[in-house]
Amino acid sequence: MAKDQKAGGVSGPEGGDERRSLPSGLSKNEKLVWETLAASVDALKAYEILDQLKDKGVRAPMTVYRALDGLETKGHIHKLDGLNAFVLCNHEGPHVVQTFLVCESCSTVKELEVVALEADILPAVRSADFDLHTARLEIKGNCASCGAAA
Ligand SMILES: [Zn+2]
Ligand SMILES: [Zn+2]
Repeated sequence: MAKDQKAGGVSGPEGGDERRSLPSGLSKNEKLVWETLAASVDALKAYEILDQLKDKGVRAPMTVYRALDGLETKGHIHKLDGLNAFVLCNHEGPHVVQTFLVCESCSTVKELEVVALEADILPAVRSADFDLHTARLEIKGNCASCGAAA
């Protein structure tokens, strides 16, 4: 009974990478930028994305910035202010409280879900009568492989 292979477009985990499937409702350029970020393990700066898209006919920085903007608004990617770089969101749908582990040695970025943080921040901000757009926490240190090497 060979039931290993599933028919249909089910995106099964292969080789342990957490590749996500392309979100719907993206413009052509947003798709290109999304795919570039999905193929990268590191956070990418806008010019690095532009560099990779030159083969695909994207030459204007504005095109990349606009696509990044659109993707961020739709909640598919996050901007890391500290690195001035972008990563794919690991979550389903937009979320305002965002937490990242940023390795200072190899600059890999991992999104972390801290439910308690979100649960604490939102009511506190609301009771301060503040209209929150984004709460972004960049936790800096060493990732597992860099920490072991140090
Ligand atoms: Zn996210
Ligand atoms: Zn590292």
